[in-house]
Amino acid sequence: MSAQKHDVVVIGAGPGGYVAAIRAAQLGLDTACVELEPRLGGTCLRVGCIPSKALLESSERYAEAQNEMADHGIDVNGVALNLDNMLKRKDGIVDTLTQGVDHLLKKNKIKRYTGRGRIAGPGKVVVEGDESTTLEAKNIIIATGSNSAPLPGVELDGDRIGTSTEALSYPEVPKHLVVIGAGVIGLELGSVWRRLGAEVTVLEYLDRILPGMDTELAKYAKKTFEKQGFKFELGARVQAARVENGECIVEIEGREPVQADRVLLCVGRAPNTEGLGLDSVNVKQDKRGCIEVDEHWRTGEPGIFAVGDVITGPMLAHKAEDEGIACAEFIATGQGHVNYDAIPGIVYTQPEIATVGKTEEELHEHGREYRKGKFSYAANARARALGHTEGFVKILADDETDRILGVHIIGAHAGDLIAEAVAAIEFGASSEDLARTCHAHPTLSEIVREAALAVDGRVINA
Ligand code: NAD
Repeated sequence: MSAQKHDVVVIGAGPGGYVAAIRAAQLGLDTACVELEPRLGGTCLRVGCIPSKALLESSERYAEAQNEMADHGIDVNGVALNLDNMLKRKDGIVDTLTQGVDHLLKKNKIKRYTGRGRIAGPGKVVVEGDESTTLEAKNIIIATGSNSAPLPGVELDGDRIGTSTEALSYPEVPKHLVVIGAGVIGLELGSVWRRLGAEVTVLEYLDRILPGMDTELAKYAKKTFEKQGFKFELGARVQAARVENGECIVEIEGREPVQADRVLLCVGRAPNTEGLGLDSVNVKQDKRGCIEVDEHWRTGEPGIFAVGDVITGPMLAHKAEDEGIACAEFIATGQGHVNYDAIPGIVYTQPEIATVGKTEEELHEHGREYRKGKFSYAANARARALGHTEGFVKILADDETDRILGVHIIGAHAGDLIAEAVAAIEFGASSEDLARTCHAHPTLSEIVREAALAVDGRVINA
């Protein structure tokens, strides 16, 4: 059969890939998208961001009903967990959203191919599905994402010892869940099962949690999670984990082994490049296996681009989306840009943690002089009314120009509050700009404004 010809072939239908395909189609390019899985949306939609947020929401409601309603003067008796329904609700949300992506591809007249996409030379992709199809394209965008990184010695059995995928569907609440790695996944999914009643022990190799995040925030977060019953073992290098007589044994260097009925391995993610046929073209990978690209997502092979988790940078759905859009625009118009200084990162725990721009440690490292403004949730009227008074907003601004360099938030709805800070950084705003912007009362956004006022030592409500 002769090859199917397209202007753009995107490999992968996750947030990087399907968004790139839509943008390319919007710009008038004949676009195809190749996806291995029957359901579109990638890890984020199928087994990542979305199902985990559904469970975080449900488990938070359960915890609230048990522990917080009484404070509001609402007596709730007989609160009981129906885990089956909680998991079904999560699956329903995923189904709806994956079908939504399917609809979007159709609406934008993007040709979908189901099967494994493999590059078979410049401008050529073979789709290995029920039958093999050859595609020809002037432009190929690799958006194949990432998967859970393995840890030597940890024997994943796809059940008792698993990754985030299994932890989204445990059939019962584990009595004792051991989480390997105190990163984003460990804290989010650890929170879900902790709230539902599991004893949760987090084993972390470093002497801190949430590596890379502003240290003051991470320290505050650790204390808060400990109050929620999390147990942390820091400086704990996991060497092995296996199932023995139906029980998990986790071995840690120089320490007593830990027993658990389930183990969640979350020590990072690795780019998906296996079987992609990269050796048939001039596409290079770095030491971590990430595809090397230039500032316009071009690999070494003309006409082959890569975006999202498969290239370097934070493995975040919104970073992938922005790259997908900009890459499609670059292909169609020769212009395309992503501002990597303004990419927010959010941990959807309770309290939420949200951050954008530089941390204090990064500013110290670069010898950059800065001023800091901080304001706590406890002094905000809306936070009091909500009953969520833990946390603070911290703004870091250039000492000389007052330009905002970083904003770090821990507290209720931090993930929504950070949007203002991202826009401020994108527009090159100063802390004075934020301080002079009217913020509605009573809202949590006033904490951001007070933190901006604090940069100049003139908070009002503290
Ligand atoms: P991570 O890189 O955030 O954290 C992994 C942790 O494991 C690190 O703290 C590391 O020191 C530790 N570790 C490594 N080896 C160890 C060992 N032998 N023993 C004990 N600890 C060890 O990785 P993650 O939590 O798996 O997340 C993967 C990616 O997915 C991240 O890039 C993250 O940003 C992304 N993600 C983002 C969100 C979100 O934005 N809310 C949610 C989930 C995942």
